[in-house]
Amino acid sequence: MRDLIVAGNWKMNGSQQFVGEMLLALNNAGFSESVKAVVFPPSVYLHEAIQQAKAVKVGAQNLFYENSGAYTGELSASMISDVGCEYVILGHSERRAVFGEDDLLVAKKVVATLENHLTPILCVGETLEDRDGGKYSDVIATQVKVGLSLLSAEQISNVVIAYEPVWAIGTGKTASPLQAQEVHELIRNLVAEIAGKEVSSNMSVLYGGSVNAANAQELFSQPDIDGGLVGGASLKVDEFLAICSAAAEVLKR
Ligand code: PEP
Repeated sequence: MRDLIVAGNWKMNGSQQFVGEMLLALNNAGFSESVKAVVFPPSVYLHEAIQQAKAVKVGAQNLFYENSGAYTGELSASMISDVGCEYVILGHSERRAVFGEDDLLVAKKVVATLENHLTPILCVGETLEDRDGGKYSDVIATQVKVGLSLLSAEQISNVVIAYEPVWAIGTGKTASPLQAQEVHELIRNLVAEIAGKEVSSNMSVLYGGSVNAANAQELFSQPDIDGGLVGGASLKVDEFLAICSAAAEVLKR
């Protein structure tokens, strides 16, 4: 059975007060054990989030692939592991678009993450131009193939992939369940070609892009969608909890 994951990417939002209030509310919420809920605070708050988190896991939004050295402003996988994180988001479209990250850089980060016993959530997704131009399958295939290119099949079995169409992130325009399912199936087939059918059928593939309490259950019910990577809605505790509950409902069926 695949892990059903709801990952809340807080991006560059929050404060010490916000972290305290969110974690307190999440700790008191009563989560279904069947869903893995993970929050991704800004790195400056990781330590305190980990100290406070009881019901959810904590992850980082990014890292650099070297272990230590003269890389001003960066954080290594060993540091992120050292403070107690379990997950890392890599290759988010904002990292790609705003900070110029390419597929090979992302691939090196995936390696460093796995070598430090962290779970990478490798983000892939096409722009609106790619979709309208009919190129989305090729774009996603390249991102998946290069993103996994430095790994053995065994390492790939510890990767989570998130399909996040760029045109759906923060826009309120969610991919339809069928559009999302089509790409998730494509990703699973690609992973099967690269690492074999067993690895592919056990891999969690998350959907991200304007997931909210109203659309989560239908999206998560699709056969190849194993939960979500949630941005804006993860900043509102009730919305995030409702998305986690929607995931738990899907599992019960
Ligand atoms: C994201 O940042 O990964 C994301 C999916 O954002 P949103 O849910 O706000 O579209």
